[in-house]
Amino acid sequence: GENAPKATLPEKNSQPQPSTLARKPGKQTTLQTLRENLPIYPHADSIRSALTNTNILLLAGETGSGKSTQVPQFLLTSPWCDHRVAVTQPRRMAAISLARRVADEMGTALGKSSPTAKVGYSVRFDDNVGKGNKIKFLTEGMLLQEMLRDPGLLEYSCVVVDEVHERSVNVDLILGFLRDLLVGKGEGARKRKGRPLKVVVMSATADTEKLKGFFEEGYRITKGDTATTNGTGTSEEKSKKSELSLLNDERQQPGQDNARMDGSDAGRVSTCFVEGRQYPVQTIYLHEAVQDFSEAALKCIFQVHCKEPMPGDILVFLTGQDTVQSLQKLVEEYAATLTEDFPKLLVLPLFAALPQAAQQRIFEPAPRNTRKLILATNIAETSITVGGVRFVIDCGKAKIKQYRNRLGLDSLLVKPISKSSAIQRKGRAGREAAGKCWRLYTEKDFDALEKDSPPEILRCDLSAAVLTMKARGVDDVMSFPLLTQPPREAMERALLQLLQLGALDDDGRVNDTGRRIARLPLTPSLGRVIIAAADPDMDCLLQVIDIVACFSVENIFLNAETEEMKEEAQQSRNLLYRRQGDHLTLLAAVQAYAAESSDRKMWAQRHLISHRAMQSVMDVRKQLRAQAQQAKLVSSDALAATDERTSTSEETANNILRCFLRGFMSNVARLMPDGSYKTIVGNQNVAIHPSSILFGRKVEAILYNEFVYTNRTYARGVSAIQLNWLDKIWGDA
Ligand code: ADP
Repeated sequence: GENAPKATLPEKNSQPQPSTLARKPGKQTTLQTLRENLPIYPHADSIRSALTNTNILLLAGETGSGKSTQVPQFLLTSPWCDHRVAVTQPRRMAAISLARRVADEMGTALGKSSPTAKVGYSVRFDDNVGKGNKIKFLTEGMLLQEMLRDPGLLEYSCVVVDEVHERSVNVDLILGFLRDLLVGKGEGARKRKGRPLKVVVMSATADTEKLKGFFEEGYRITKGDTATTNGTGTSEEKSKKSELSLLNDERQQPGQDNARMDGSDAGRVSTCFVEGRQYPVQTIYLHEAVQDFSEAALKCIFQVHCKEPMPGDILVFLTGQDTVQSLQKLVEEYAATLTEDFPKLLVLPLFAALPQAAQQRIFEPAPRNTRKLILATNIAETSITVGGVRFVIDCGKAKIKQYRNRLGLDSLLVKPISKSSAIQRKGRAGREAAGKCWRLYTEKDFDALEKDSPPEILRCDLSAAVLTMKARGVDDVMSFPLLTQPPREAMERALLQLLQLGALDDDGRVNDTGRRIARLPLTPSLGRVIIAAADPDMDCLLQVIDIVACFSVENIFLNAETEEMKEEAQQSRNLLYRRQGDHLTLLAAVQAYAAESSDRKMWAQRHLISHRAMQSVMDVRKQLRAQAQQAKLVSSDALAATDERTSTSEETANNILRCFLRGFMSNVARLMPDGSYKTIVGNQNVAIHPSSILFGRKVEAILYNEFVYTNRTYARGVSAIQLNWLDKIWGDA
C-alpha cells in the first residue's frame, strides 16, 4: 500500500556496509521490502518474458520507480542470461552509486573487493569490476570504448541502456551500434555467432514511439525492403553528392550483411510502461523575475526551512558546481545565526565531480531534528534519487553544452531548462508524500520554456562521436543509424577536424593515429596531444599527462578569502608560476605536489591549492599513465624509472607546448597592434581569462585549452607560443 514505503523510510537510507550485510539478515530483509515496494516490482515477470520473446525491450518509467536498480537484478535470473548484464549511465557518479546500491541489495561486496562480489562498475579512470561480477554499471563512454575492442560485446548477455531521455551523444551512438548488433549487421553481430544480445532501453519519459520506430526500421532495412540504410535522415539528403571528397560515400548495399537475419523476428520490439508513484506537488511561482537566482534561492531556502513542517528535506536545483559551492557557503553562514528554535540544517552539495565519500552522505539520513538541504545540479533531476525530499526549489536554469559555431568549440552555457526538466524537478518533491515546489521564475517564464531540450548531438562538437564511429569500422558515417541526424555541416566539420588532427587519411578512413586516439579516454584533441608527446622527438609524455590530468578537474588554484591569505599564498605560489603560462605552471604544481613526501595537505594549503582537486589529479595521472602503458606509448621500464622530477628544461617546455599545439591548432590567437588578441581561425576577439597567470600580459601569440563564455569570450588554460611553431604543425596536418 501507499504507506508501506513511508513506514520503512527511516531505515531505507541507513546503508550497512556490504560485508556486515551478509551477516545481518534484518537489514537485508528491510532492503528486500523496499525493493518489493518499488512501482517496478510487479512488472518483473513481464519484463523477463518480454525479453524471452524478443531481443529488445523499451521500458519507460517515472524517475524513482526502480528501473536502474531493479531491472538488472530481474534479468539475472532469465534463462538466457549466462553472461554479464551491462547497465550504462550518462554520469560516472550515478554508475558508482547505483553499483553500490545494487551490491547492497544483493547482499554482496562491490567490484574487486571480494571473489563473491556480484556487482561492479567501470567509469573513466576508475575500473572496479571483479571476475565474478554479474552486473556491471558503466558510463556510456566506457561501453563505447569496450565496443571498440569487442564489437560483438561478447562479455555480455544483455545491455541495459539507462537514462535514454537525456539523449547524450554517447547514448545515440550506443543505440546505433546496438541496433546494428540486434539486426545482425556487421562484424560484431557475426562474432556473436547466433547468441543474441538482449537490449533494454530505459527512459524516464513515456515517449517511446521514436525509439520504437528507430529499432523497427533497423529490422525492416536489414530485411532488405528499402533503398536507404540510413536511420532518420531523408533519402533526398542522403543522395546529395558529398561536398567533401574525403567522405567515403559508398552506400551499404541493402540486404548485405544480413545473411543470418531471421525474417520471423524482424520488427519485434517490446515495450513496457511503469506508472510511478506521484503525490500531488503544489507549485509556487515568483511574481516577478529576479536577476540573481542565488540570492532568491537563499531567501527561499530559509523561508521553507523556517516555515515548513518537519520532516521534509529540501532539494535545490542550481546550475553548476560553482553556484552550488558558493551558495553552500552563504547558507552555512546564515544558518549559523539561526536560533535553537529552528531545526538544524545539514547542507549537502551534489554535483557530478563530487568525491565518492561525499556522494554517499547524500543518501544517509539526517541526524535528529535536522533538515537536509541538498544543493544540486541537474544531476538530481533523474540520475540520482534522494529519499526524504518534500520541498524543491528550482532556479529554472542549467549548464548546457553548446557548440558555438563561430568559435568552433563546445562551451558550457547557463540556459533556461526545458518544460520537461522543470516538471521532472518538481516531481522530486512528490515521491513519498505531497510536496511543494518553488520556481524561482514567473509562471509566464515557465510557459515560455521549450518543451524538451534538443538532443546533445545537435548541440555539440561531433569530432569524438565521428572518430568513435570510424574507429568502430563505420566508414560512411553519414549513413550510420542515428535517432536524430545532425546537420551535414556539423558532421563535415568534425571530419575536417579529425583530418587536421591526422586521425583520418585523405580518403576519410581512420588510420593508426586515429585508432590510438579513439582508445584514449580523452577528447580527440587531448588524445592527439598525448600521441604527439609520445613521439621520441618530443619525448615529454609524462609531463603532458600531468597537465592533461589537471585539465580534468575544474581548477586546482583556490581563490584567497582574505588579503593576508592571498599574500602568503602568492609567495609560495611564485615558485610554481612559469612565465610560459598555465600549462607549465600546472606541470610545476603537479610535480611539486608529487615530490612532496611529508605532508601534501599542508603543501596544498600553503599554496592555496585545492588538496581535493590535487588528489583527483593524481588519480587521473595514475590512470593515464596506465593507459599510456597499455597503448604502448611508454614502456613500463620508463615509467618505473621516473623519479618525481621537479624541473623542466627549456627544450622540454617548448616541446610540451608544441604537443599541445598539435592537438589544439585552431586554439591560437595572436596579439593585435591594439593589445587585444584575435583567433587565427575565425578572427574572433578573445581575452585571457582572469584565472590565467598570463592575464594582462602581452605575448606574440597564445595557445589556449578552452573558451569560456560569460559576458565576453575568454580563453582559459593559456600559454605563450611562438608563431613560427605553427608553420611546422599546419604543414604536417
Ligand atoms: P529509477 O531508475 O526508476 O529512477 P532507481 O532504481 O534509481 O529508480 O531508484 C529506486 C530507489 O532506490 C529510489 O528510491 C532511490 O532513492 C533508491 N536508491 C538508488 N540508489 C541509491 C543509493 N545509492 N543509496 C540509497 N538509495 C538508493
